[in-house]
Amino acid sequence: MGLRPNLLTRRAAGVASTTLALLLSTAAVGVAPAASAFSAAPGGTCVEPADAHADARVKAGGAAKHEPNELTAAQIKEREADLAAALRERASRRTGAVVPLATVTIPVVVHVIQENNTRAGGNIPDSMIQSQITVLNQAYSGATGGAVTAFAFQLSKINRVVNPSWYPILEGSSAERSMKSSLREGGKNTLNLYLGDVTPGLLGWATFPQQRLSSTDGVVVLNESLPGGTEPNYNQGDTGTHEVGHWLNLYHTFQGGCSASGDGVADTPAEASPAYQCPTGRNTCSAAGLDPITNFMDYTYDSCMYQFTPGQASRMLTAWNAYRAA
Ligand SMILES: [Zn+2]
Repeated sequence: MGLRPNLLTRRAAGVASTTLALLLSTAAVGVAPAASAFSAAPGGTCVEPADAHADARVKAGGAAKHEPNELTAAQIKEREADLAAALRERASRRTGAVVPLATVTIPVVVHVIQENNTRAGGNIPDSMIQSQITVLNQAYSGATGGAVTAFAFQLSKINRVVNPSWYPILEGSSAERSMKSSLREGGKNTLNLYLGDVTPGLLGWATFPQQRLSSTDGVVVLNESLPGGTEPNYNQGDTGTHEVGHWLNLYHTFQGGCSASGDGVADTPAEASPAYQCPTGRNTCSAAGLDPITNFMDYTYDSCMYQFTPGQASRMLTAWNAYRAA
C-alpha cells in the first residue's frame, strides 16, 4: 500500500512482502467481550484466570465467533489495578540498589506444531522462523518507522512437534492447555511462540503478563502469517509483532472506543472500533487525531502497520519491570 516507509528495508533484509491482493470482505467482525478471561477466583487472593488467553488478532471478514481479545471495562480496571500492585510490590522489594532494566533481550523458544511433515500439515521452514525474529527486531527497534522500544529478540530454540491432536491449535481448548503445559520452557522473561494452523478466523492470540507465571503464558500465531507464508495480506510477520505487544502488556488501539482512558496510552489517538485493510483518513472519534491505523496494535493489513508509539514503548517497559524482569 506504500504506507510502510521502510518496506525496502524489510526487502533488503530478505523478508518477503506480500504480492497477493485477494479481496476480503470488509464486514466487521462481531465483537464479543471475553467474559471470563480475567474474572477473579471466588474468594481467592491470587488471581489465576482459568483461561488466560487475552488477546487475538482477527482477519478482515473473519468469522470468529469467539473473540477473546476485546476486554471489558471491568477487566481493564482489574488489569490496571494489578499492574499498580505489581509495581508497588517491586518497589518495596527493591531498596534502591536494583536499577530497573532499560534494555531487554528476550529469549524466544519457538514450538512448531505439526500435524505431519508436509507444509500443509504445519512443516514450515526454519528460514520463515528466522525471518519472523528479524521482523520482531525491526519492529521493536523502530527500524520500520515507529518508536524505539527497549526490546530485542533472540531465537534460542526451534522445537518441532508432530502431534495431530494439537493441530490446529484451537483457542481456549483443553488441547491447547495440554500443549502449552507440556511444551512451555523458561521463566517469565522467555517468549514461548507456538506456530500452527489455528482457530478459523483468528491470526493469533496472546496472554497478558501476570504476577504468577502460568503454564499458558505465551503467544500463538498462525504459521502461514510468518514472513513468506501463504496467508494473503497477513504474511509479513506482523501478527507476531501484534501478539508480542499484548504479551508485553499492550491493549488494542481501539480498546475502550472513544473513551478517555482508551488503551491506557496517551499518544495513540482514540479509535471507536478496529480498522481493517488499510483505510485512508479514518477518523472515528471526535478527539484529536486520525485513527492510528498504522499502529501494530490495530487490525489492519501487515503492509499497513509499521509502528509503536513512545507511549506504548514506555508502557511495555514499565510492565516488563513489573512482571517479567527477574
Ligand atoms: Zn490483538
